[in-house]
Amino acid sequence: MDYAIKTAGTITVSALLDAAGASAEGIKAVWLSYPTATFVPAKDFGAELEVVEGTEMLRIYDETSCMCDALCNVIGELRMATECTCTFGHEGGYQLHTILSDGCNKKGKPSDIALIRDLAPVMEKQAICGEGQAMGRVAMQALDLFGAEIEPHFTKKSCPTGGCAAFQTYHVLVSKCTGCGKCLKACADDAILGKPRFVHVIVQKNCVQCDKCRQVCPEKAIVRAGAKKPKTPPKPIPVRKK
Ligand code: SF4
Ligand code: SF4
Repeated sequence: MDYAIKTAGTITVSALLDAAGASAEGIKAVWLSYPTATFVPAKDFGAELEVVEGTEMLRIYDETSCMCDALCNVIGELRMATECTCTFGHEGGYQLHTILSDGCNKKGKPSDIALIRDLAPVMEKQAICGEGQAMGRVAMQALDLFGAEIEPHFTKKSCPTGGCAAFQTYHVLVSKCTGCGKCLKACADDAILGKPRFVHVIVQKNCVQCDKCRQVCPEKAIVRAGAKKPKTPPKPIPVRKK
């Protein structure tokens, strides 16, 4: 969630959150937009920092937010904000954004982390525009602060918080399914097994996360799950009598 900032100068994140009317409870980090351009983890909310004149926005991240996705969005926004065409700002920003976007979409490779670590410091030093320098700096900052969340996207093809849509999976809850068959009819990808009055089951390898089954289920028995998956049977079982 984004909040407007109307303050510049030395201040704490706690004071900024107070001024914005936002509670710090459950927040794991914030982002302060360009030109301050920095992530601040919750442990540093009480520490003073310099908010640069012109910084207009504070974004908060809770436990369900994915910091790989957060970094990808921030780099995308900084790219859009600069009109500079220098190699390190323009091309470097494109490369960084592509790598992070791949990570959030299950296409990341383990070697991408080393690529970011090679590219980002050079961008910070060599980019002509402030946004290009900021992209390099915050990419390194995010890897240092949130590496445990970001790196598994590339090394294990997993999203630890479950915040990235591409890593979410669909499941039928045994306790709610009545075996009506509406989801089976709605699925165009042969990703659902079932027959009348049997709890239906989603075949994960066929599911393309289109959400159609969840939308048609009259019992709200189909859920999207991130890191924590509900327990479901491997094949259809008779519906429990209620
Ligand atoms: S999300 Fe789409 S592809 Fe996956 S099971 Fe549901 S309808 Fe089928
Ligand atoms: S998951 Fe929903 S739509 Fe599919 S059979 Fe069960 S109750 Fe019907």
